[in-house]
Amino acid sequence: MSDRVYNFSAGPSMLPLEVLERAGKEITNYQGSGMSVMEMSHRSKVFQKIFDDTKANFIKLFHVPENYKVLFLQGGASSQFSMVPLNLIGKTGKADYAVTGNFSNIAYKEAKKYGEINLAASSADKNHTYIPAQADLKLDPEASYFYYCANNTIYGTEWQYVPETGDVPIVCDMSSDFLSRVVDVSRYGIIFGGAQKNLAPAGLTIAIVREDLAGQELPYTPLMMNYKTMIDKDSMYNTPPCWCIYMLGLVLEWLEAQGGVEGMEKIKHAKAKLLYDVLDESKLFTCAAEVGSRSDMNVTFRSATQEMDAKFVAEATAAGFVNLKGHRNVGGMRASIYNAMPTEGVEKLAEFIRAFDRAN
Ligand SMILES: *Cc1c(COP(=O)(O)O)cnc(C)c1O
Repeated sequence: MSDRVYNFSAGPSMLPLEVLERAGKEITNYQGSGMSVMEMSHRSKVFQKIFDDTKANFIKLFHVPENYKVLFLQGGASSQFSMVPLNLIGKTGKADYAVTGNFSNIAYKEAKKYGEINLAASSADKNHTYIPAQADLKLDPEASYFYYCANNTIYGTEWQYVPETGDVPIVCDMSSDFLSRVVDVSRYGIIFGGAQKNLAPAGLTIAIVREDLAGQELPYTPLMMNYKTMIDKDSMYNTPPCWCIYMLGLVLEWLEAQGGVEGMEKIKHAKAKLLYDVLDESKLFTCAAEVGSRSDMNVTFRSATQEMDAKFVAEATAAGFVNLKGHRNVGGMRASIYNAMPTEGVEKLAEFIRAFDRAN
């Protein structure tokens, strides 16, 4: 489809073309059922099979151990900012938070409603251009959990290590690098993410919960925000986001064909390197994130002036590279290159950056 642009949107973002085409083919009649997945009862056999296969494939591809439950929820990653403390903080009344960007800061402020929150680390001193080192984390051994955000979508930084927290379970927001790299799930208590960056359309939130952490919720935890409720009913206490789960299933089949998460890890790193190399060589542009903290998913960069940034964005848009304007907190540009962005799109953007650098 030659009329499609290279879409560098931070989210919702690109989905694989094959997935969209397959969903299009099946949209009015899903595999002989005579109806769309959008029109099906979530209790029907046909949908139950979509649900079961999708969950099983997620567990397989992300290597989720047996003592974890995978939940398909709604409310966005943002709802987890409340759900995590409501379910976990009751143990000691305390929790550790690392604030390395916009979303972990929102989570930190939200958690303060429910307990005593220790700011274990913050990168605010340098406008979140780096990830704190293990030695700089101020950990409280009595914390009910340690919270961080693996990839900072707005600032373009990504944790390159899993924090060492002793017996304190780790909670991680992986919204913007979910299934882009191999993760040792057993290092975590809870991993969650909104699906709309890397995995599916907006409307689905995935939570991976270590079983023993559920069932300790605060007494006033809303019914729909209780991990135990959702675990007991296999995410079907009420109507789940059926269409998004179906789309996730198609994306996971596509991911499997790319070599699974292992294959994607190589591809995504090579894609990011293409951009960082050309930016490091350029005279015009500088990267926003420090070397060693750079994200493979969101590449943030800028020229010396806002006028030049605006010129770059305008010319890029005219050339078919869209949604490159940076977030207002950072300025400059941001190229979000999630799993579904083809290598070809990144190669062409790298060429465009090189040509623009020479011409200006
Ligand atoms: C986009 C994003 C969020 C917010 O997700 P919603 O699903 O819109 O609530 C949270 N955390 C990270 C890291 C994100 O990239």
